[in-house]
Parts: sequence; structure tokens; C-alpha cells
Amino acid sequence: MSKYVDRVIADLKKKNANEPEFLQTVEEVYSSLAPVVDAHPEYEKAALLERMAEPERVIQFRVTWVDDAGKVQVNRGFRVQYNSAIGPYKGGLRFAPSVNLSIVKFLGFEQTFKDSLTTLPMGGAKGGSDFDPRGKSDGEVMRFCQSFMTELYRHIGPDVDVPAGDLGVGGREIGYLYGQYRRIRGAFENGTITGKGLSYGGSLVRPEATGFGAVYYLQEVLRHEGEEVKGKNIALAGFGNVAWGAATKIAQLGGKAVTLSGPDGYIYDPDGVTTKEKLDFMLQMRASGHDKVQDYADKFHCEFVPGKKPWERKVDIVMPCATQNDVNLEEAKKIVNNHIKYYIEVANMPTTNEALVYLMGQKDMIVAPSKAVNAGGVAVSGLEMSQNAEHICWTAEEVGERLHNIMKNIYDSSVAAAEEYGLGYNLVAGANIAGFKKVADAMLAQGICY
Ligand code: GLU
Repeated sequence: MSKYVDRVIADLKKKNANEPEFLQTVEEVYSSLAPVVDAHPEYEKAALLERMAEPERVIQFRVTWVDDAGKVQVNRGFRVQYNSAIGPYKGGLRFAPSVNLSIVKFLGFEQTFKDSLTTLPMGGAKGGSDFDPRGKSDGEVMRFCQSFMTELYRHIGPDVDVPAGDLGVGGREIGYLYGQYRRIRGAFENGTITGKGLSYGGSLVRPEATGFGAVYYLQEVLRHEGEEVKGKNIALAGFGNVAWGAATKIAQLGGKAVTLSGPDGYIYDPDGVTTKEKLDFMLQMRASGHDKVQDYADKFHCEFVPGKKPWERKVDIVMPCATQNDVNLEEAKKIVNNHIKYYIEVANMPTTNEALVYLMGQKDMIVAPSKAVNAGGVAVSGLEMSQNAEHICWTAEEVGERLHNIMKNIYDSSVAAAEEYGLGYNLVAGANIAGFKKVADAMLAQGICY
């Protein structure tokens, strides 16, 4: 391991001791970069690793709103503008009670590398709030979004920072956020937010993009092994928008998503989540706000396993699409004991570092990292920005084809980057290196400005 990387990680551990998720992701990314920084002493001279770990700007604000009972509620809002060396800040907003600065920083740091991998001109950012959308009425969600935007609007814009959705922020919330932005700005600047509805400048294929992109990436991995999605049983975790998109594309390609999970446990459907009725029901479950996957088992009469994760199932491929740290060392051992060959991360940082090192150390296992696999979502957000800038609307085929090409390109550039630095077929290190190089070179070229 490079001395420079070691020193930077040790300093960050001292300085950011109360930010565990942030430290976890920096350590994971920077430990892959040792051969690159060793080969390029100019990066250390420009203190690039130190600079990249420090967000360009952190905005934290109060969000006050009134609930249906007339009680005044106070939440915390965040926007971490991480890096704008290659384009305006870009990344989602997450509404969940677990949101804190460490989580938003980890997501924003990851986003910088992910957005770079797409090859589109987008910098990295993330934001959100500790607001819990569960059990809130539509009016409460709207008032919260309006209050949130009343502060956020001054920090964003089509060439400044372009937020989008993430956990707890879907089409409905984006609509309320954009409506308030439009009102305050007094202008139809719809390129300032992505994931919009089609009637006001959204892009076709955006709702499906993250899940579809993940399966396009999976296809490349399988092709490398002389295999295909057809006939494969796939364990998905989560049951939100990303898992829905993945299950849909898997079904189209003749595979089967056989598990879904939620905070209450997981379902096992040996026939697969393949029919339109089942896929539509996933959307209904999410929209219901119950946050329970058991509803699926009740409706389609399949097995529900309470309080557990689907990693104990023997399948061909595992794709965690839920949230961070869903797979710890103990869960990873179950996956290895079931001789599963493909571990395809989809959610942001779904694997603890300890579990990731363990999985990558397995001779017969292929591990693909989320920042590459789930980049299709933000990639189509980038395509939405282009369409908004040009006041045009591409067809679903045009967007789909671009997405497919971007995912292939992410895979190819990751493979090439790892090979270039003597790391062999290493998709995790390759994505980190390819994502890093573009941002690093842009920062070097622009001098010591940030
Ligand atoms: N939240 C999604 C992500 O993690 C989408 C971000 C975006 O579209 O800007 O990439």
C-alpha cells in the first residue's frame, strides 16, 4: 500500500472520527488507488487525495413545517457539494430518519466517482433530510418539500447543482420540490432537477434507469464468463424503484428475480418476480408507504421469512439493491457457502469493508461495485439535463440505447483501468481508478483553485 494513501487515511481517521460511513467509503476507494498515486507523484504534490476527501461545500439547514395536527415540526436538511471539477454538482436527495452528515458525505464522495464513470459532465453531490416519509400524508410531504426547497433553491441551478431523487424521494417529491423552485425563481428552469415527471421535462426511461443499467452491467460480466441472464435465479434485496427496474429487465432477458427484501424480512418466490402483475405490485407496495415486503407474499402466496436477509438462499447471482451495509461478514459467509459466483452490488455501499475484502478474496467469485453498477440512474439524469438544455425529448429507444452504451463503456473502462495498473480482472479497483483519473486530471489542469 502506498505511503501517501496510508497517511491520508490515517489523517482522515483522526479528523473525521465521528463519521463512520464516510471513513468506510474513503478507505475502500483510496486503498484501490495505491498503484495510481505511486505512478503519478504529481497527485501527491497537488494534495489531490486530501482535497478530494474534503467537500467543496457543506450546507446544513433547518427545515420547519406544520403537520396535519397543526404541530410545528423541525428537521435537518443537508446538501454536500463535493466536487465540481468535471461538471455541475449532481446527485440525489435522500429522505430517511437515518440521514446525517456522515451518510450524506459518504454518498456525495461515492457520487463524485460514479458520475465521473458515466463519462458525462457531472460533478458529485448528495443531500437530504432526516425527515421520515413513512406514515406522512400527501399534504405533509408537500409542505415538507416546499420548506426544504425554500432554503435549497439558493444553492442550486442547471449549471450549479442539479439534485434528483434517492431513498424516500421519488416522482411525487421531485414534483413538489420543482414546483416550489419554479415559484421562487419565477422561471421554468427545469434543468435544475432531474427525475421529473414526463409532463414537465422528465426523461423517458429515468424511472427504470438504475435497475436496467445494473442488469446491462451484469450482462457484460456474464459475457466475460461465457454466460447470460437467461435461466439465472437472482436474489435481489430491497423492493423499491431500483429492485423493480432490475426485476423487470431480468424478466425481459429470461432470468428470474426470486427474492425481494424489506425492513420486515424477505420473500422467496421460486417462480420469479416476472409477470406484469407482480412487477406492478412492487410499485404499489412502495407507493402504499407500508414499507413491508410481506404484502407480496400475502398477495402471491409465496414464502415470507421474517427478520432475515435473502443471502441464505442458493441462487446464481446476488444483487443487493436496498441500502448501505446490508451485507456484513456473517452474511457474506452465507453467500460464499452457497457457492454463488456473482456478487453484483447495486445499492450504494451495500457491503461492509470487511465483507467486501472477504468476498473479493474468494477465488471463484466475481465482485462488481455499486458505483459502476448503479451509475445508470445518474447517467439518465445526465441525459435528462441534455434534453432540458436543448428543449427536446428523446424517444425511449434513444435514451435506452444511450444508457446501454454508457453501461458497457463503464464496464470496459473499469476492466481496462485495473489491467493498466497490473491488478488483473478487478472490477472494484478498476471502477475506483477510472472514476478517480478523470476527476484528478481535471483538478490538476485547473490549478489550486479548490
Ligand atoms: N440517487 C441516485 C444515485 O445515487 C441518482 C442521482 C441522480 O440522478 O442525480 O445515483
